[in-house]
Amino acid sequence: MKIQFCGATKTVTGSCYFVDTGNVKFLVDCGAFQGGWEIEKHNLDAFPFDPAALDYVFLTHAHFDHSGRLPILIKQGFKGRIIATQPSRDLAHIILKDAARLQEEEFKRWRARPEQRSFNEGAASEGALYENREPMYTEEDVENLMPFFDLYPYGDSVDLHNGIEFRLRDSGHILGSAMFEFWIKNEAGRVRKIVFSGDLGQQGQRIVRDADLVRESDYVLVESTYGNRVHKNKDDTVLEFLSILKEAQTHGGNILIPAFAIERCQEIMYELNLFFENRLLSDLPVYIDSPMASRATEVFRRYPGFYDEDAHRLLEKGDDPFSFPGLHEIESVEESKRLISKRGVVIIAGSGMCTGGRIVHHLENNIQNAKTSIIFVGFQVPGTLGRRLVDGEPDVMIKGKRYEVRAKVHTLGGFSAHADKEDLMYWLRSFGHTPRKVFIVHGEEDVATEFAGQVNKELGVETHIPSLYEEITLE
Ligand SMILES: [Zn+2]
Ligand SMILES: [Zn+2]
Repeated sequence: MKIQFCGATKTVTGSCYFVDTGNVKFLVDCGAFQGGWEIEKHNLDAFPFDPAALDYVFLTHAHFDHSGRLPILIKQGFKGRIIATQPSRDLAHIILKDAARLQEEEFKRWRARPEQRSFNEGAASEGALYENREPMYTEEDVENLMPFFDLYPYGDSVDLHNGIEFRLRDSGHILGSAMFEFWIKNEAGRVRKIVFSGDLGQQGQRIVRDADLVRESDYVLVESTYGNRVHKNKDDTVLEFLSILKEAQTHGGNILIPAFAIERCQEIMYELNLFFENRLLSDLPVYIDSPMASRATEVFRRYPGFYDEDAHRLLEKGDDPFSFPGLHEIESVEESKRLISKRGVVIIAGSGMCTGGRIVHHLENNIQNAKTSIIFVGFQVPGTLGRRLVDGEPDVMIKGKRYEVRAKVHTLGGFSAHADKEDLMYWLRSFGHTPRKVFIVHGEEDVATEFAGQVNKELGVETHIPSLYEEITLE
């Protein structure tokens, strides 16, 4: 049996692992690379396997860095099945449709006016991906992908009757996110166990349950996004969020929250719901100005079976965790533009790093007003407009125009859908000393190296940080 690492090696995006058991060929994830041309160019690499020869793709969760290259597989003749949870399929549908639409639009735009490459600061490299090329896929390609999904619940062992048995477990990262346990019969007829962590969530995260623990495995692939740091306390973060909102409310200006449409947006809605229901806040209209976020919220409402205990308790009390007095969901661009006249309201919009989306025109309209508060609730990649604001730059470029930053900028560090170093170590300890090897993936090289050192020292197991397209035989 061999495994080839086709992404998320010494970097956090492009998750894709190819396994050939000698009898069956499958992938775990088929995600896109993100974060500037130097990385994104790998989205155009030919796959080092034949997509038409694959039997399965096991999808850990819907995020673009895990699902983003799935439609390419179909275009290249994939005939197998995609195995995932219900929320993963529905959320992947939303994410991939949005990505296809953006690619088609950007492609048209670069074609029409190639000189207008740079939309915002931080987006300058995006054009390179589409120059003289077709978009990676279209919305139609995404629709063609959907019938390939087979849906499974957490917890059931499934025998595929070809030497592979698998089980989905909750990875506690976003709604429906999974880790995979595989029991695979190798060429010598021996069963080897291999576990793919997927992305692991932060313990105590809202809405989703904590990650399941797994006992024993011959091989483990573990993510390491935050393998070298400890998150800020979650309760402190929520209280800080409340005090920023209350303070901002007294100024009467607008409160802008740039947020990712999936998971983070629902998590913020969940906290706001608790603030309003418990009368910690009142008279503060909230606008979710992201049709994508609204569609994702529908998916969250559709699958309450995937919620944690606290969210269940709210439902039992008759409280919808994603709705509260004063909440408005904005659909059309015209409605979004009408928000310009509003004062003293909360506007939640994408993109989470302000590199595009409706948050951009809200920033244009509010950033020079000293009464405005901007609250960042997610990590900001260097080079993005969001990062410049977080770093306190006195003026920034938006759509080619310079704006003085007079708004107050706040950063909340505790909202993370990723396990930190302690959560990762806790999860790994459940394996005891059994793994012959732990592969450290989905982390920047320096972080993965530091984390590998800790795993090696504390658990006494051998670690390996694979390189892109490295192939390893699993005995
Ligand atoms: Zn993820
Ligand atoms: Zn990821």
